[in-house]
Amino acid sequence: MTTESYKALLEKVYANLAPSFAEDWPKLAATRAEGVYLYTEDGKEYMDFTSGIGVTNLGHNHPHVLNAAIEQMKKFSHSAVGITLHEPLLRLTEVLPTVMPEGMDMFFFGNSGSEAVEGALKLARYVSGRPGFIAFRGGFHGRTYASVSVTSVKSKYRLHYEPMVPGVYFAEYANPYRCPIGDTAEDAVAWSKQSLEKVFDHFIPPSEVAAILVEPVQGEGGYIVPPAAFLQNLRQVCDEHGILLIMDEVQSGFGRTGEMFAAQTLGVRPDIMAVAKGIANGFPLGATVASRELMTQWKAGSHGTTFGGNPVACAAALAVQEVFAQENVLENCRAMGKRLMTGMLEIQKEHDFIGDVRGLGLMLAMEIVKPDGRKTPDGEKAFDILNKMLENGLVGYMAGPTGNVIRLIPPLTVTSEQVDKALEILGVSM
Ligand code: PMP
Repeated sequence: MTTESYKALLEKVYANLAPSFAEDWPKLAATRAEGVYLYTEDGKEYMDFTSGIGVTNLGHNHPHVLNAAIEQMKKFSHSAVGITLHEPLLRLTEVLPTVMPEGMDMFFFGNSGSEAVEGALKLARYVSGRPGFIAFRGGFHGRTYASVSVTSVKSKYRLHYEPMVPGVYFAEYANPYRCPIGDTAEDAVAWSKQSLEKVFDHFIPPSEVAAILVEPVQGEGGYIVPPAAFLQNLRQVCDEHGILLIMDEVQSGFGRTGEMFAAQTLGVRPDIMAVAKGIANGFPLGATVASRELMTQWKAGSHGTTFGGNPVACAAALAVQEVFAQENVLENCRAMGKRLMTGMLEIQKEHDFIGDVRGLGLMLAMEIVKPDGRKTPDGEKAFDILNKMLENGLVGYMAGPTGNVIRLIPPLTVTSEQVDKALEILGVSM
């Protein structure tokens, strides 16, 4: 397709796309992608440090994953689970428990992160017989009704959708960079702990709470890494009151933080998990995961799906696990994460508007603020930098309630040369 014919097509059909779907940034006209690179119809090449928002963790078009999907497509592309129980699904279900946090060994497969969260919430209410959920301020869990009801990163995600699913209460996340009572990790944990206690005291007693839902690293909220003690406290509270701890690892899962899951990186055990994104390196698949004890209480017919556990997506997910096992992906993630983080900290030294550099593994970000000593978020400046990075051939993405966080989400297979190139671009784009 020529640039002219692309432009003509876009002009003709853009009006047919719902703004809620297509109106985003930077709307690249990609024609091909491989590894860390995205290629556009005008012949430009970009380093993709978004990975499709944490999805193509093994790089675009990983040959082993691609081949597994093609081979499955030649056999058949769809059959609803239950009508058949096909080999890719069975094999995937055999492999995943070996890499999931301990005890996460039964699976309900859907197609997306939102569905995985939806399933987790339904499962928690179903097995506990309790109505309430506690989620955290600044969290993002999806766009379906239940998942948006527990989402609070931006009020525009909730605007005109009230009434939401009832029974949801919000507590404070432990954000060490923005804690009103002090600057230390302990302060952040104490702040969040107090806030959870207040929810129990004033809004809903623990005996009425089915689940506490948490992102072990807040994603859309701004790549906020809480102190491990924050999650340990949640674990303790849940154990004390018979509350289920749901970890939403849709964005942090499948190697992103340097271990297969952030629950492992931070050392806290969930009762239920929601996973998606990186599970199949770009094919639509998600899962609600729980222990056998919980999952077997979720009776046949109480939840369901047509597309979930699609054979092509399952074959791709199985291939993803084979690549993790064979290619030292996690080791590379940790090493390249360290390299990228070190370079970002060096860049921070030169600019007083980079308030914070943070992250785990290759889930990294810099928070842009006004240099006013008050950490005033500067979304405009962040957007400016993102646009300059784009001009220079590096695609990053925004995060945070005001879009003032620049996140870098390269594939976990990124090389040191590519990291260095990205840092060079980042440096000149400030
Ligand atoms: N949970 C988290 C933590 C996410 O980051 C996202 C997507 N950004 C979702 C849920 C929703 O996933 P999806 O867009 O696949 O529905």
